Amino acid sequence: MTSSYSTDIVIFGGGIAGLWLLNRLRGEGYRAVLLESNKLGSGQTLASQGIIHGGLKYALNGTLNGAANVISAMPSRWRSCLAGEADIDLRGCRVLSEHYYMWSDSGIRSKLKTFLGSKSLSGRVNAVSKQDYPDFFKLASVDGKLYELPDFVLDTESLLQILINRQKEYVFTIESDSITFARDESNNLSSVSVKDGESRVRIEAQRFIFCAGEGNQGLIDKADLKKPKSQLRPLNMVYVKGETLPSVFVHCIGDSFSLTPKLTVTSHTDTHGRIVWYLGGEIAESGVGKDDETQIREAQSMLTALFPWVDLQDAQWHCFAVNRAEANVNNNYRPEDAYFTEESNVLVAWPTKLTLTPNLADKISEHFKALPLTPSIKHEESSLADVLSYAESATTRWE
Ligand SMILES: Cc1cc2nc3c(=O)[nH]c(=O)nc-3n(C[C@H](O)[C@H](O)[C@H](O)COP(=O)(O)OP(=O)(O)OC[C@H]3O[C@@H](n4cnc5c(N)ncnc54)[C@H](O)[C@@H]3O)c2cc1C
Repeated sequence: MTSSYSTDIVIFGGGIAGLWLLNRLRGEGYRAVLLESNKLGSGQTLASQGIIHGGLKYALNGTLNGAANVISAMPSRWRSCLAGEADIDLRGCRVLSEHYYMWSDSGIRSKLKTFLGSKSLSGRVNAVSKQDYPDFFKLASVDGKLYELPDFVLDTESLLQILINRQKEYVFTIESDSITFARDESNNLSSVSVKDGESRVRIEAQRFIFCAGEGNQGLIDKADLKKPKSQLRPLNMVYVKGETLPSVFVHCIGDSFSLTPKLTVTSHTDTHGRIVWYLGGEIAESGVGKDDETQIREAQSMLTALFPWVDLQDAQWHCFAVNRAEANVNNNYRPEDAYFTEESNVLVAWPTKLTLTPNLADKISEHFKALPLTPSIKHEESSLADVLSYAESATTRWE
């Protein structure tokens, strides 16, 4: 038997984008439900390093364009959320590090100094004097220079948990291959039919938002949309666990002085209390297609060269493949901004970065206000829980 249910907005995908939007739109008075085909956060969000970027990467490219200005506003936007003073109240979310650093070895120091002296960056990137070095760099046995960026690092598990807990009765699990869409005479999507176990439900809505990361392409195909194009950027991420590893949060800038730092390290704690170093940056991009043994060997030699004062003898090394999913708006170039597009009554969205999620939510919220979209409830919302199960949360890869 197929049950029926009606709401204003159906969101597909329970990563940061879908969960943030669910909170934001419900907070604005819309009726909205979220459908997840796996575990919440299991896509890119819990695989992310949790860095709230301030735009240095764009500045490294030599230009501070419009997109860089949007991202440079993000750290303070997130900080207002963390203080409970903005659209989404993130009080209680764990901040892993209040600061993010950039480390350069002496080889590129003069080039970097000239660059950092540029007007566009003044006041945003500060050289740290040796006596103020964090503990990790106080022990440095190589000559280098440390800079403090406006970026900081969030614990993505606690971030997601806050967003889930606030709306948990509206977050459901579905089987991805059960999704079928129906259209009305104006060629808008009128409903989606989904299954969870033996139960099938047809959900009517005024708007559908695809926030399924890599899964957006499958939804675009099922809904037979023409416009949005997606792209994947594969990564081979490495993590290192150790009983005695210190915490460190740093981009290491390589000689090539490229847009992607040579190495990007964040530190996390697993459930046994061990520190986990999570490694991204150029090593993750250049490691695509390499077997585990090669990728780990290269990460080992990179860490030994960059941080020779750290004892990595008893460390355990792992790596895994994951894709970044983005809109393909500019011939496979990396998009610089959060992106959504609308076709019929379907929005397809990618935040591009976790950092830009508040910006994506602003854009969609403004879009709905301009329509305007008005609530039109036919059934009690609670009835959906009779048919679908609540979605569960994923854990990070190092658990
Ligand atoms: C290794 C890595 C490190 C990163 N580090 C950072 C960082 O430090 N800072 C930063 O700002 N950004 C970072 N990013 C980017 C950031 O993680 C992503 O931009 C962001 O998490 C995307 O969120 P999302 O909700 O759009 O997608 P996702 O997190 O991928 O979530 C999509 C969800 O949709 C679900 N889904 C898929 N198909 C369907 C379907 N058919 N129906 C229903 N649900 C479906 C998936 O199971 C998943 O839960 C990183 C990305 C990667 C991969």
